[in-house]
Amino acid sequence: MTAMRIGIGSIFQESNQFAGTQTDLALFRNSYVHEGDALLQLAGTDCEVAGILAVCEEEGAQPLPLLAARSVSGGVLTDACYTELKETLLARLRAALPLDGVILAMHGSMVTASQADPEGDILDAVRQILGPDLPVVMTLDLHAHVTPRMVKQATALVSFTHYPHDDTYSTGERGASLLLRTVRREVRPVTALAKVPIICGACNGQTSGDGPMAHLTRRARRLEKEPGILSVSCFQVHPYNDLPGMGCGGVVVTDNDPALAAQEAHALAAAFWARRRAFEVEHLPVAEAVDRGRRVEGGPVLLVDTADCAGGGAPGDSVALLSELLALGLEEPTLLMVVDPAAARACAHAGIGQTVSLQVGYSLDPAWGEPVAVSGSVRRLSDGGFRYDGGLFGGTWASMGLSAVLQIGSIQLLVMSQPTYDWGDEQFRSVGMDVRQAKFIGVKNPMNYRHAYSDLMKAAYIVDTPGPTPAHVRNLSFERMQRPFFPLDEEIPDLEIPVVVS
Ligand SMILES: [Zn+2]
Repeated sequence: MTAMRIGIGSIFQESNQFAGTQTDLALFRNSYVHEGDALLQLAGTDCEVAGILAVCEEEGAQPLPLLAARSVSGGVLTDACYTELKETLLARLRAALPLDGVILAMHGSMVTASQADPEGDILDAVRQILGPDLPVVMTLDLHAHVTPRMVKQATALVSFTHYPHDDTYSTGERGASLLLRTVRREVRPVTALAKVPIICGACNGQTSGDGPMAHLTRRARRLEKEPGILSVSCFQVHPYNDLPGMGCGGVVVTDNDPALAAQEAHALAAAFWARRRAFEVEHLPVAEAVDRGRRVEGGPVLLVDTADCAGGGAPGDSVALLSELLALGLEEPTLLMVVDPAAARACAHAGIGQTVSLQVGYSLDPAWGEPVAVSGSVRRLSDGGFRYDGGLFGGTWASMGLSAVLQIGSIQLLVMSQPTYDWGDEQFRSVGMDVRQAKFIGVKNPMNYRHAYSDLMKAAYIVDTPGPTPAHVRNLSFERMQRPFFPLDEEIPDLEIPVVVS
């Protein structure tokens, strides 16, 4: 028997329509864009593509690498960026024919200047090339906005099951295994999607321990052991887009049993609705968080500035927290970070050991606040390169661009030129900022700090700051997402849960 020929592609970004920035190819290239055989260099990383390649090798399938592109979250993709990536993927797909199957590693909440559902658009285009019957599996982030079009066009959808996302590799493995079983005609996947209108921040979305997603995820794993069920995915939709039909729920893939898929997807969505209130979190004014933190013995105490999360599409340029901490006259050693390319250049121009006075903040998305005037000494300069220890970029390199450590009183401020995804403390560590010595650390991620600082943090408080990735969606104005939805509408009488089956 000749080896199965499997096309492998990936265009992965989580977009943010509330951010004032746009995503271009340069932002993708700051993570990676690998065309053709260059994709194979992802083998050995933590990415989905690495898991897919491993399964292909194990099962004697021949990988046909198309394109793998990943970017930190950001504003919507420019049309030029999307067209370039999409056309490259499709051209390589045509050139790779004939194929036995295709697997695409996508996020599911990407948005472009003209496309509300680019993953569905790519599946449409792939189907035009491959026809309706060739198996196509798509892997997705747990924060995907899954659309009926994606369900109809993909043979199966398989998502991350962990948040923080430390299971990207195994998601690639699961997706590839399901694809190869389908190609070998061992199974006939049928997919059902059911959602309820919940749009909540990710702060309570952890999939281990307690919390609503943890309970739902355990339920999904139990369900996967049932006969006839091939895969169960729980989705807590990325809340920072404004699109019709957004919501949380489940995708259930069965072996040729549409009724079972529909029934279990519906039950999962209903379980989401029953647990909706547990997604809401407490957030505090900065002064109160600092006050509480001072009463905690030792450190670090984390001030979770989730409204400026680069991992959720914010530009990372907010100085709301810095500004409030300066006003409070903080004397404890504190680590903060901000993206401000002009400030980084000013620090580099002055040189290490020199004192600079400059305006910092809101240089990329000025809608959310005013820059703040600071004076400090330049402690360190860097070209900004670092390698991720884990997570969905695990094992790959990224760059903060020209960066500086500016000492402003007791505050060490990491000034970067480009936003990067926060997994652990890689960015701080790369420039010698020691999280163990800090009393307070400003972290700009709603979740991954739980992983990064689990052995270290004494307390963590979510602070109420402005930005395009806030802890509470009440701080945003939705226009295209139709009411009613939780939490803006706490009760929805006679809630109907539509189910879409492939
Ligand atoms: Zn995610």
